[in-house]
Amino acid sequence: MYHLSCVHCGARYPPDAVLYTCERCGHLLEVRYPLEEVRVTREDWQQRPLSVWRYRELLPVAGAPVTLREGGTPLYSLERLGREMGLRSLHAKHEGMNPSGSFKDRGMTVGVSMALQLGKRTVACASTGNTSASLAMYAAKAGIPSVVLLPAGKVALGKVAQALLHGARVIAIRGNFDRALEMVHELCLSHGLYLLNSINPYRLEGQKTIGFEVLDQLGTVPDRIVLPVGNAGNISAVYKGLSELRDLGFIDALPKMTGVQAAGSAPVVRAIQEGLPDVIPEPSPETVATAIRIGAPVNGEKALVAIRKTGGTAVSVSDAEILSMQKALASREGIGVEPASAASVAGVRRMVEEGIIDRDERVVCVVTGHLLKDPETVVKQCAPPVEIDADMQSLLSALHL
Ligand SMILES: *Cc1c(COP(=O)(O)O)cnc(C)c1O
Ligand SMILES: [Zn+2]
Repeated sequence: MYHLSCVHCGARYPPDAVLYTCERCGHLLEVRYPLEEVRVTREDWQQRPLSVWRYRELLPVAGAPVTLREGGTPLYSLERLGREMGLRSLHAKHEGMNPSGSFKDRGMTVGVSMALQLGKRTVACASTGNTSASLAMYAAKAGIPSVVLLPAGKVALGKVAQALLHGARVIAIRGNFDRALEMVHELCLSHGLYLLNSINPYRLEGQKTIGFEVLDQLGTVPDRIVLPVGNAGNISAVYKGLSELRDLGFIDALPKMTGVQAAGSAPVVRAIQEGLPDVIPEPSPETVATAIRIGAPVNGEKALVAIRKTGGTAVSVSDAEILSMQKALASREGIGVEPASAASVAGVRRMVEEGIIDRDERVVCVVTGHLLKDPETVVKQCAPPVEIDADMQSLLSALHL
């Protein structure tokens, strides 16, 4: 049986504890399994369908999960962009192909299942958008109410539409994401709602399966995994999962965990580049990539360990680089992602140029959310459709034929 463990002081808590941080020191918690009791092999896993639940021996859920068939997302080889950057091997794991259109579903299938397992009946989160869309969807599947707090006016249209239609109680606060998270955290502690932001250690358990799937799809451990970083939960989760596989003897090396942030919202990059012991919050984060518009990353402590222990790094990219890579992925590779997702690939381009990434490395980028999440940003970037009269001559002349 697993337990919860404080990443700072090592305090241990039983599996039925409803806790988000260590009672003794206030730091983050993580789920720990007695790995010596795990009986599964990689071959056993490979017999099962590719999905979050292929890896159930390393997940905390006991009974049947609340599932909408998350995970099993495609890993694409970026032939054109990779060649152009001069990379031997560049892949993108398209997490936009999850049920709600982002990797948050991996966390929510586990998180909402755990809410039920712990006897919780209302779930809540603060969100830059995708967490709320996913929570609303999984709460609907579970048949329980959900409450989501959004920063007013700062959430992409598709995400708000999802949260509303799946039936969450959607509250927009006149403040930023970081404030929304403080408020919902307080609400959950005072009123017993179950908090499903990435401070929740169970959510990260689901998300770690991104790394497992990459290994199974690539057939080898990549040299580097590159992720966009907001609250830094995903990069921490992937590192934790791969560390477990190493401790189980399934793999013998870890990829260099590499984070990419938007220049206007880059507290993790600053901590890495300046060698700081902790992440210092950025008071007014700003970027077109709203999913990573986060100044006080909740999982900063875990992410710094993930990056430093694997010899990875963190870099920032401008909004212009993000949007131009979003377009390149869409028009040259057929991969439609939202701006935050393109940050990982934009970061790779920059790191190759700066000599941080070696051209022989096998690089996997996690592209985190679907293009349709944020249609407004896309439409602003593109020339509008050419409108013509409904006759063949106008059509031919519009096409220069
Ligand atoms: C949540 C999210 C991120 C950031 O992930 P963190 O775990 O908060 O670092 C990046 N991209 C998209 C599309 C997201 O929804
Ligand atoms: Zn502690």
